[in-house]
Amino acid sequence: MPIDRLNRELNAFSRFAKRPYFRKLNVIQSFSLFLTPLLKKMFNMKLFISSILSIFFLLPSLALAQEQNLEGPKQGHTNQNKFRQLYNEFSTPNDYRTASGAPGPAYYQQRADYVMDIKIDDETQRLYGEETITYTNNSPDALAYLWVQLDQNIRKKDAPALLKNSQSLDQVSELSSFANNHLGDPFDGGFNIEKVTDAQGKPLPYIINETMMRIDLPTTLQSGGQVVFSIKWWYNINNHVVNRARSGYEYFPADDNRAYVIAQFFPRMCMYDDVEGWQNYQFWGNGEFALPFGDYEVNLTVPANFIVDATGELTNRKEVFSKEMMNRYKLAKKTYDKPVMIVTHEEAEANEKTTTTKTKTWKFSAKNVRDYGFTTSKKYIWDMMAVKVGDRDVMAVSLYPKEGNPLWEEWSTRAVAQTLETVSRFTFDYPYHKAISVHAKNQGMEYPMICWNYGRPDEDGTYSDRVKFGMISVIIHEVGHNYFPMIVNSDERQWGWMDEGLTTFIQYLTEQEFGKRYPASIPGLDKYPSRRGEAKKIVPYMSDDQDFLAPIMSNPENVFQLGPNAYGKPATALNILRETIMGSDLFDHAFKTYSQRWMFKHPTPEDFFRSMEDASAVDLDWFWRGWFYTTDFVDIGVESVNTVQVTSEPSASYLERLERFGYSIDDFPPLVFRVSEEDEDYDENAAPFAALDTGEYLTENGLTVAQENLAKANYLYEITFNKPGGLVMPILVEYTYADGSTMSERYPVQIWRKNDNSYTRVLTSEKEIVGVQVDPNEETADVNTTNNSWPREEVMTDFDRFKESN
Ligand SMILES: [Zn+2]
Repeated sequence: MPIDRLNRELNAFSRFAKRPYFRKLNVIQSFSLFLTPLLKKMFNMKLFISSILSIFFLLPSLALAQEQNLEGPKQGHTNQNKFRQLYNEFSTPNDYRTASGAPGPAYYQQRADYVMDIKIDDETQRLYGEETITYTNNSPDALAYLWVQLDQNIRKKDAPALLKNSQSLDQVSELSSFANNHLGDPFDGGFNIEKVTDAQGKPLPYIINETMMRIDLPTTLQSGGQVVFSIKWWYNINNHVVNRARSGYEYFPADDNRAYVIAQFFPRMCMYDDVEGWQNYQFWGNGEFALPFGDYEVNLTVPANFIVDATGELTNRKEVFSKEMMNRYKLAKKTYDKPVMIVTHEEAEANEKTTTTKTKTWKFSAKNVRDYGFTTSKKYIWDMMAVKVGDRDVMAVSLYPKEGNPLWEEWSTRAVAQTLETVSRFTFDYPYHKAISVHAKNQGMEYPMICWNYGRPDEDGTYSDRVKFGMISVIIHEVGHNYFPMIVNSDERQWGWMDEGLTTFIQYLTEQEFGKRYPASIPGLDKYPSRRGEAKKIVPYMSDDQDFLAPIMSNPENVFQLGPNAYGKPATALNILRETIMGSDLFDHAFKTYSQRWMFKHPTPEDFFRSMEDASAVDLDWFWRGWFYTTDFVDIGVESVNTVQVTSEPSASYLERLERFGYSIDDFPPLVFRVSEEDEDYDENAAPFAALDTGEYLTENGLTVAQENLAKANYLYEITFNKPGGLVMPILVEYTYADGSTMSERYPVQIWRKNDNSYTRVLTSEKEIVGVQVDPNEETADVNTTNNSWPREEVMTDFDRFKESN
């Protein structure tokens, strides 16, 4: 490419000529001037040009050498290119996890099966349990001990987790949190472990380190082996409204009743895998759970007038349901269009007034779940509706005290059903037989097949849009967690975003479909008002003080703002990936590939990142790096729009320069010279192509389209975009012409690979360009839109307004 080289060398020459030490190089310059005619005689034209250019090329480097000698050694740099692959950040693919992001031939996972007898004492608010765990070691490793999670120990009086945050007295605080934080909380909700025994009932030695218990095995558990052991325990159940916890009871003083939502309530096996070994990172409160799959047989004993629902199939329905409930249940299984009441509002109100000393045992059986949760109260209203998922029927279920109505009977089960339909379409058919939404004050928490959700009307039954949409959204979100992480079972303790981010993303998709399906839920709105998902909604977070931002790829305990960090930003990133970077066809297939590859398995972040590329052929290392590994933000602007001209006639100074090197313009093929407003030859009254004489060149060389376009071209622009933000993104731009028409262009992200600061386009145009707008539809989360348009829109600051008003 001789002309490219010529340009580069001429540019280099003019830069070089301006340097103060230019004179020092006179000798070299003279030498090259002497050499040139010699070379001209020796070589043919093409070789001549490149030889000339090589000499030009040498000059600046020699100058640089001089400079270095004067100023000391200059440092090099490592590869910081934003498009370099993530070899340093990613673990090396292996037989467990392949480079494609799929489970490898040696992939394994441990298994923990539970048989549990659980009893709630409503009088004392105590939970008693006895469990037998059958643990199967599918790993290639021999295990000398087992680690078991004791999450309730975070509720011990002296738990270090209570001291983890710096305190200050807020200007205003809730009395309950003030009492908890500053008046000493006498509540002691840690585990009381009564015994740990082997299959023969012999005590097993164990040691408790805060929320982790190590059980030392009498004989090492070999690869492929199984061990059976039992734990007997009890603890005091906390009031989850006062003590802000994912599990506990809510007390209703008006009728002196409690509603229990009980979870992470039993000693649970830790994960053991190829990534972490034992995942025994302590439970500090933010990082959630890492759990192996298994089967559960659970007997739940509660007061006889209590309703129960839980993870798993109810196996003794005939013993615990009344005949009336049974008939309604049969009807619900065939009803797809509206919830069927199993326990009505009136029945629940009557039931909550009854008392009994009798108990009832509800029996559940759950296959292939990673955890267990249940709810119980005599206050519950209960409704169900059938949903078609693939070729199967799934029951969408809701339980709520009368305090949840009229909101809950209207929307809860419908929101559950919509989630199953939408998310199944984007991932895989929901494999369990039911999904339950339970109303619990201030809660938003998920377990397999069951979750707790907030959203309560005022006492008179009225509610705001905020309460309604908050309630529908949290139900969609928590039911969505059945997919991530209950089935696509990621490690929440380490990676909060893998379940929260993916779930918030599918929540957005579901909410939008819910709004379309039930226009009555969004009166006066054109679409469902999703709180998270759209690009512009993450801007306040992305532009926040960098001292209070952490990359998405951080442990949830160590981030400043868990909400935007684990939920909002990853969900927005995926949304941008789907709508703007990859397009829905490529994205949806890749997302489904990831979901199906890791269904009932344990993926890592790399498995997700790799699968998304593997199934789409879109290189995304730059995207993962920028959005997930840094706190960089998007800011792209229009820097300048310059009018330029071209001519076939070189300027006098240009000719003179060529002459000094011993050749003339006739030595070259037809050339085009750029003339900008700074050049003497610029004629502001002339058309940009007026001085361009193409002769017969274009037609003779078959460039007829170029010839036609040249005839129509009235304007020639150099448009420069700049990028004050660290994130690389495609430039989405809309040009507006004088006649009001517009043209949209998209410059791929790769434009930034060799210049991370600016990008220039040369545009020939028939019509005058009167406006340039970057990211016109606010798709990229650009944090500063004041530089997005040309001509610049006048932005009035508060100060300007203040000045004007005075
Ligand atoms: Zn969540």
